Amino acid sequence: MTTDSPFEDLPYNSPLQPIKLELDDNIQFRCHKNIACFNECCKKIDISLTPYDILRLQKRLKLTSNEFLSQYTIPFEMDKDGMPGVKIKTTEDNPACPFLQEDGCGVYEDRPTVCRYYALGLMSMRKENSSTDENAYFLIKEDHCLGHNENRMISITDYRNEQGVDEYDSINREWRQIILKKRSAGPTIGKPSQRSLQFFFLCSYNFDSFRSFVQSENFSEVYSLTPEEINQLETDDIALLKFGAKLLKQVLFGEMSIAIKDDALQKRALNRRKQIQADPEDPNANYDGPEMV
Ligand code: SF4
Ligand code: SF4
Repeated sequence: MTTDSPFEDLPYNSPLQPIKLELDDNIQFRCHKNIACFNECCKKIDISLTPYDILRLQKRLKLTSNEFLSQYTIPFEMDKDGMPGVKIKTTEDNPACPFLQEDGCGVYEDRPTVCRYYALGLMSMRKENSSTDENAYFLIKEDHCLGHNENRMISITDYRNEQGVDEYDSINREWRQIILKKRSAGPTIGKPSQRSLQFFFLCSYNFDSFRSFVQSENFSEVYSLTPEEINQLETDDIALLKFGAKLLKQVLFGEMSIAIKDDALQKRALNRRKQIQADPEDPNANYDGPEMV
């Protein structure tokens, strides 16, 4: 996102209120179990998931990443280059959230970031030629939501604390930076190869398979980690998630923060040559980006 005004192109009937809010601005809003619209917002959803959302939900449901992704999500493309995202799966017949129960959210303590923010929207922006991100908040006013009529004023900061979004934003920070950098760089970065897109999916959402990859010979041939670092990635899910984002920054943008073995580049070049000789039409073999996998 490179624009100063994220609201320019809003359709006239958008529930998004075109007023940029800062952390110390107040909003009038309260949601609680006794409100007449309770659960209305979960009956027709369109919820994208972040890596930490997935980790929390799969752990709560005691599922592997593969099981969670196939049972509860559908893939979508986050931009025209096909950057892969995942959303909570619904059906045309039933657009309600699969976690919705009569007495409310069935995964409340582990509900996704979007649900925590609602009825606030978050828009992260990075201006062209800037290395820092800016967050803008805005209010989402949908007809069914009566929380806006409740008699409570609360600052954005206090609302964020109440909803526990800090932990989510902090753990997802580097991953979000990748999405922003990809968007703000536009065509200068080029379209990632199919292999890079698959790798993005692996590092971002499929933690069990990513952990297996980190433990593989392919990985250890290229990357030079200490035994302590390897042990941490084997046992600490959040460390693995954050490592995935660092690795993606290195693979997609050449931001080198993970040590590479001395002979890895030569081995990689040799492998590429073999791939090209075997199949000169293979787009992955001919891709000349900063891939290290
Ligand atoms: S996860 Fe919970 S809060 Fe979010 S849409 Fe589903 S039921 Fe509603
Ligand atoms: S007040 Fe809004 S957010 Fe709360 S239950 Fe009603 S529709 Fe959902």
